[in-house]
Amino acid sequence: MSSTPPSKEWMDADTLLAEYFQGVASFLKFTKDKLGGDDWYYCPCTKCLNYHKGKKTLKVISEHLICNGIDNSYRTWFNHGEPLCKTTINVRVSSSSSANVHNENAFPKMEDLFNDTFGRIHLDDLDECLIESIQQNDTLARED
Ligand SMILES: [Zn+2]
Repeated sequence: MSSTPPSKEWMDADTLLAEYFQGVASFLKFTKDKLGGDDWYYCPCTKCLNYHKGKKTLKVISEHLICNGIDNSYRTWFNHGEPLCKTTINVRVSSSSSANVHNENAFPKMEDLFNDTFGRIHLDDLDECLIESIQQNDTLARED
């Protein structure tokens, strides 16, 4: 899958540099991979600025980019197959059904919980135990 757009640092490079030529090639390849390559596209060169001169073939676009330079404010190639909204790509919503199952397992029945915590104390005695522990805490707090 070549869905990740290539680096765009070359767009700031001098049009005579090899880096720029390679960048143009990566742009053309990206467009071709995403959109097919047989169609006509907006030219992002400094003279056409995508919309100004209508659509052109990739061959003409490559000549324009090398002769005129690319409009280096065109950082998201939305006319050439790059999605505008990148933040939506890697978002995954976890299955709500599996989350519910997990939650049920995470909360055991109340009786089991009390038995685990207090040993085999009868539930009727529990209030007295709680009151005792609260009074103890109260005493400790006053001693402070
Ligand atoms: Zn052009």
